[in-house]
Amino acid sequence: METNTEHKFRDYEAEARDTVKTFYRLNHTHQTLDFVKAKKADYLALNRREMGIWEAMEFLNELIDDSDPDGDFTQIEHLLMTSEAIRKDGHPDWFVLTGLIHDLGKILCLFGEPQWAVVGDTFATGCKYSEKCVYPEFFALNPDSQVPEYQTEYGIYEPETGLDNVHLSWGHDEYLYHVVKDHLPDEALYMIRYHSFYPWHNEGAYTHLTNAKDRQHLTDVLMFNRYDLYTKTDERPDVEALKPYYLELINQFFPAKLRW
Ligand code: FE
Ligand code: FE
Repeated sequence: METNTEHKFRDYEAEARDTVKTFYRLNHTHQTLDFVKAKKADYLALNRREMGIWEAMEFLNELIDDSDPDGDFTQIEHLLMTSEAIRKDGHPDWFVLTGLIHDLGKILCLFGEPQWAVVGDTFATGCKYSEKCVYPEFFALNPDSQVPEYQTEYGIYEPETGLDNVHLSWGHDEYLYHVVKDHLPDEALYMIRYHSFYPWHNEGAYTHLTNAKDRQHLTDVLMFNRYDLYTKTDERPDVEALKPYYLELINQFFPAKLRW
């Protein structure tokens, strides 16, 4: 068995890379501007369910994400590991709460959306694709790549229009932002809405579409991002022991039910 370990590990790595590649081929092929607008028209009506935050966490926990390399942990465990790391560093309540809820938009999967329309890095649609996105070669498969109006530097947007006006590829960030936007400060909303927008916050792409407010809040998104990453050696949180503290925290900011 011992002698096989390394070999098996390599196989797993190759397979994982392949899964990621397939994921981004689908994502880059199908996330057109029209697709994004259609998903917004559908989901942002928020007429599917009424749930409190903890209830949404338990609902999300039904999701088993096979493609997630951090699949050792349940969805609730990932949320609590993120929020507990933020709490241990002494950050304000709203920041801890943001860690707790940041991935709740993944319930889109439970509403029947495919992975490529829920998770992964996001990118701007309706304008030239950035080479700083992962697997940029797959954008050639997107029908929008054949629309000249969408392939200029600014595409359908004004210079420095602000990210609020940019149609990012559809996923869990944008959806959750709309569910919670009346209840949290701007810093938290930036963290939620743009945590998957790696080309912007990690690679410096799309700055020509950002406005002063976006640039001001980039540091918040980067600050959050540090806590969204963890290793397999991290400790499993005790969900039941932490629940009373978090129910109290949720109550400080949110009504008993939210529209999803
Ligand atoms: Fe996320
Ligand atoms: Fe996360």
